[in-house]
Amino acid sequence: MELFSIAQGNENTKEHDLKSKVKIIALSGTESVTKNMTLYECEDTLIAVDCGVDFPDNDALGVNVVIPDFTYLQENVHKLKALFITHGHEDHIGAIPFFLEDFDVPIYAGRLVQGIVNEKLKDKSFKRLAEKVKFHTFAPDTPEVTVGPFKLSCFHVNHSVPEATGIIIKTPQGTILHMADYKIDKSPILEQTIDLSFVEKLGKEGVLCLLSDCLGVTKEGSSKSEQIITQTINDLVQKYDDRQLLFTTLSSNIGRMKQIIDAAKNAGRRLVFIGRSISQNFKVARSLGYLDLDDSFIVGEKEVADYDQKDLVYIIAGAYGTQGSALDRLSRGEHDYVKLEKDSIVVFTADPSPPGVDVDVERVMANLTLAGAEAIYSDIQEDLYVSGHGTREDLMTVARLSKAKYYIPIGGTLVKMRAYKNIIHEELGINKDNIFELHEGDVLKFDKNAGKIVDHIDVKEIYIGADGVTEVNPVVLRDRGQLATEGVFVVVIPSSSDNRFMVDKVEVITRGFIYVKESAELMNKSKKYIAKVLNKHMSKKEDWQTFRRKVENDIASFLRKETRHTPLVIIHTLNI
Ligand SMILES: [Zn+2]
Repeated sequence: MELFSIAQGNENTKEHDLKSKVKIIALSGTESVTKNMTLYECEDTLIAVDCGVDFPDNDALGVNVVIPDFTYLQENVHKLKALFITHGHEDHIGAIPFFLEDFDVPIYAGRLVQGIVNEKLKDKSFKRLAEKVKFHTFAPDTPEVTVGPFKLSCFHVNHSVPEATGIIIKTPQGTILHMADYKIDKSPILEQTIDLSFVEKLGKEGVLCLLSDCLGVTKEGSSKSEQIITQTINDLVQKYDDRQLLFTTLSSNIGRMKQIIDAAKNAGRRLVFIGRSISQNFKVARSLGYLDLDDSFIVGEKEVADYDQKDLVYIIAGAYGTQGSALDRLSRGEHDYVKLEKDSIVVFTADPSPPGVDVDVERVMANLTLAGAEAIYSDIQEDLYVSGHGTREDLMTVARLSKAKYYIPIGGTLVKMRAYKNIIHEELGINKDNIFELHEGDVLKFDKNAGKIVDHIDVKEIYIGADGVTEVNPVVLRDRGQLATEGVFVVVIPSSSDNRFMVDKVEVITRGFIYVKESAELMNKSKKYIAKVLNKHMSKKEDWQTFRRKVENDIASFLRKETRHTPLVIIHTLNI
């Protein structure tokens, strides 16, 4: 209706005024590097790009992963037509099982992503979803896909997992280039160099908006190639030919696995894959032809004791020091089948200190050291790690070739977004009004050839508990935090058969708050105060919920004043 009235009202209406508006909704993955999900909306069609998880820091007690907030998708489920995936990292695909719980739309992804997700869905908690998933292969060699007013295709980019893609979204307002994680690698492992001719061609045809990775924007120069690590790994296998030798890497880094496998094969050592994600991804990558290793060269974890350790090379999960990972258990001497030898070498081939996990990595390295092993990592070993994210020169090369009118940095942090904005402005002379720092929930609208942030939807963190399936309510999380840092203060109030509180017989139980044996004075004072509070509120004849809340609040204030701590106060009545 709106389009009709515009056309009627103005005879000079230009053609682009009549084109349908396009919205980009930054659901998540702009302010933080992880749990990526971007929505594109036009007319009655909504498509999502990526569906990842975040790994919470240590404050989120008992939380396994954080997933994007699907509320907007649920409210617009009739519009939702498809999910597209850029590459197979957990922060881009990890929330797919949760997406499948709620939505029944096709998922367009590369072959490796399909393999990784299908393996994940074999887990008993997700098994019922395996029948529901509808994958369509979306790769540089597959034809353009039409979804409502959108036309989508993709091209190859370099990253730290094979088959990473940039997605081209043709919309009524113009072409949008969605380039999540990427870099320019002139000599990559297992793949070709990024196909910049696509970006150049699109740039010449006209790009409305470039959404670009911005994580490496503050690093000067061009990216280092993954290839430099090949020699380092070979040298380490040669150097430690008489030791137990373990390499830890991210399970998605198939290129790194190939380097380790080739070095082990050259040295005549067999391979042992330890940890579920490593074993699963090895299986998928081998079936797709990325890894070449005969079964006779693989030793199962239960058989390692039958071999001389210098005849084996291990690839073990837990490069980020995750609690409960294979490497974490091994470092504490708690792995069921593998035991560390006194002079073991453990090589960390992933970034050992990414924000948020550096403490965990340090803890595992300390345990390894205590067990007599030696950890080798990029701080002390040259050419052991290169980032999968483009440095400033890589990002500027893509931006320059795209000749886009608008720019949106994604997959970074607030600080990296600002740095990207400033550099695009300074180096390319783009007006700052054309570079959007989208906060999570921001809605950007393209209309009449111009982009503007027009709305903001509420998005919250969705926490998934230690079982990897069940949602944890934020109230539960808040209580856990209070219990962990302040302890608990339970007041047991006996009541007589005629429901009268026996105020003089109140008992107090505490845990994690004070050491009761050394706090007799505080305990006596507390009991007297509790008696006073109970008498005060009982006289008001309030309902039980109101009574309990007020008494708990008063006691919490009293304890805070006395001790500067605020334990979780719980009132419990006992009929005697
Ligand atoms: Zn990635």
